[in-house]
Amino acid sequence: MAKAYLRRQMGEVIKTDIRSLSLAELKEVFVAHGEKAFRGQQVYEWLWKKSCTDFDGMSNLSNDLRNWLKQTFVIHPIQVEDKQISNDGTIKSGFRLHDGFLVEGVLIPADDRQTACVSSQVGCSLTCKFCATGTMERERNLEPAEIYDQVVAIRNWAQAHNQAPLTNIVFMGMGEPLLNYANVIKGIEKITSPEGLGMAADRITVSTAGIAKMIKKLADDEVRFNLALSLHAANDEKRNQIMPINESNNLKAVGEALQYFCKKTRKRVTFEYIAFKNFNDSLQDAKELLAFAKNIPCKVNVIEYNPTGDGQFEKADSSRIDQFCAFLDRNGIIARVRRSRGKDIDAACGQLANKKHDNALMNK
Ligand code: SAH
Repeated sequence: MAKAYLRRQMGEVIKTDIRSLSLAELKEVFVAHGEKAFRGQQVYEWLWKKSCTDFDGMSNLSNDLRNWLKQTFVIHPIQVEDKQISNDGTIKSGFRLHDGFLVEGVLIPADDRQTACVSSQVGCSLTCKFCATGTMERERNLEPAEIYDQVVAIRNWAQAHNQAPLTNIVFMGMGEPLLNYANVIKGIEKITSPEGLGMAADRITVSTAGIAKMIKKLADDEVRFNLALSLHAANDEKRNQIMPINESNNLKAVGEALQYFCKKTRKRVTFEYIAFKNFNDSLQDAKELLAFAKNIPCKVNVIEYNPTGDGQFEKADSSRIDQFCAFLDRNGIIARVRRSRGKDIDAACGQLANKKHDNALMNK
């Protein structure tokens, strides 16, 4: 049985990443090795609940057992690299993956909450025109353990810097979470399970650019976390211009999928709407947003545009943003302005990978 976890490739022994195994699989491995199943449970706790990254640290196992684990398996923790602290308290870091790629994660502290913003892919395939990550190629999906590790690292910053527990998680870092569906779901399962971090699912928000089929799948899978849609324009012509994914997943398809999601999960979705000067900040744009949103239980977060360096867009004037929100509020849709955090260290929305772009690829 154990041999199944050692593969040979061109003469080289490839060990299995032990965190790719479920609890049941881990127990089986131990039983096949002539051990009691509860050893599997112990190791599982070391790996997840205690975030142990080294077999030698598993102090309740015998030396023999630790050596056998080392010979058979590998643990691939992410490494924190270049931690930066913004003058508003936002903390960002690159996370180096075992194969050399780099992703980023952010801690956003506030009076009443500590929010982790995590990545789901290395790079992104969607090429949204306003987003720094959109200029990168999508290199690969993150593993569930790599998603989990980001949360653990950021949770530790919240403790160390602000003496506060991590309260919220948003999947608004690099990548499109719904294009890494299985691993994101598995990562969230570990984050919410009592054998993992035991966080509440309703404190987690997955943000998508709008993959209709996968939004429906979330509903069918009866997920308990929240969903946000990066909307940014409520007419197809404009949305096509800034988000190419809209060509294959237009507003009608995404709107229907969201209605289905809200009905099945009884949840309200959040629309993120970056206000671009003279592009989507007029009263007419607000009317279009109202028409799109009226049959979907929702709230709207209007986001300040963070320049990404190409000069294509500008941030809308605050007076226009206020009018925009006031119109929606008057018409029964909750709309709030979200000011940016961590801009001085390129940790704000859409700025991830801005300065690390070459790095992510170079160090491969
Ligand atoms: N792919 C997912 C998750 C990553 S995006 C999605 O599209 O939702 C995280 C959020 O940052 C999204 O709402 C995105 O639209 C927003 N964002 C991207 N670039 C931005 C920028 N330059 N300024 C402000 N927000 C930006």
